[in-house]
Amino acid sequence: MLVVMEQAATAEQIERVVKVIEEKGCTARPIPGGDRVSIGVLNNKGPVDAALFIGLPGVKDAVPITKPYKLVSRESKPEDTLVHVGDITIGNGSLAIIAGPCAIEDESQAMIIAEQVRASGAHLFRGGAFKPRTSPYSFQGLGEEGLKILARVRETTGMPVVTEVMDEGTFDLVEQYADIVQIGTRNMQNFSLLKRAGASHRPIMLKRGMAATIEEWLMAAEYIMARGNHRVILCERGVRTFVHHSRNTLDLSAIPVVKKESHLPIVVDPSHAAGRRDQVLPLSRAAAAANAHGLMVEVHHQPERALSDGAQSLYPEQFALLCEQVMAIFKVCGGQEPF
Ligand code: PEP
Ligand code: MN
Repeated sequence: MLVVMEQAATAEQIERVVKVIEEKGCTARPIPGGDRVSIGVLNNKGPVDAALFIGLPGVKDAVPITKPYKLVSRESKPEDTLVHVGDITIGNGSLAIIAGPCAIEDESQAMIIAEQVRASGAHLFRGGAFKPRTSPYSFQGLGEEGLKILARVRETTGMPVVTEVMDEGTFDLVEQYADIVQIGTRNMQNFSLLKRAGASHRPIMLKRGMAATIEEWLMAAEYIMARGNHRVILCERGVRTFVHHSRNTLDLSAIPVVKKESHLPIVVDPSHAAGRRDQVLPLSRAAAAANAHGLMVEVHHQPERALSDGAQSLYPEQFALLCEQVMAIFKVCGGQEPF
């Protein structure tokens, strides 16, 4: 159930609705909208009677939400969610470009790549300090030292930074440094991590689980929103299929489906989908044509020396071409001018 308040509803009227919801043993979750507040009724055991709310002062309507992902659903919030990070807005009809190496390896590597991607048109810098690696013997990331390097990159270049959190134990640390906290594919259904992300004051970039349906992905986002963090960005990064010609299969149909089902922004990561450099540019063009809200791309100035994911990392000049092409395509396909 969603209680939609009048545009002119007062704080007292909203408070009264919250009280009625709580007296019924449910949780009230106010959802700030473009011009009015709506209040989601959560944790109800059975159907909630709309008559409880209709007629209360300041209440415009009370509508049942049919989707299992209540707060994430467009039913609960028809207008797009905009996530503001520094001067950048994700979800507003522009194409946000997020780029950087898979892992922060040292300060000079991070700075060189950051300057190069910024010059080509990237808006945000990404790099892992805590890396989820298939093998325990592979490079695991620099940990806090990597986060400190990210902070220096932000200071030097002005770009907000995106980095991954792998567990609850390091969440406090990661959110101190990150402008956007990434939750990776392997953790999409790590429910205790999702709950912790819901208590974060940072936006969360939630990657799709490599075997997750869109409904499971949206339910994972619901975990974050149900705890009060409304700044969630979804990231399509490919799903596991039977093919051998790429690491995963990029599911571009997720873009229109997510946009229909949810008000949350969706960005596309063609690098982890492809696993190989030669597919990243065509997949990026396709994602821009499908009007994703952003792209997240791995770039390395010396991919053959990268400590992780070198095979899928673009050379800086390839990334420059990518920016040029995707911006042109995005414009033709209905997107706005970048920021
Ligand atoms: C990453 O973004 O570096 C990463 C490990 O991605 P994923 O979780 O999609 O595999
Ligand atoms: Mn990677």
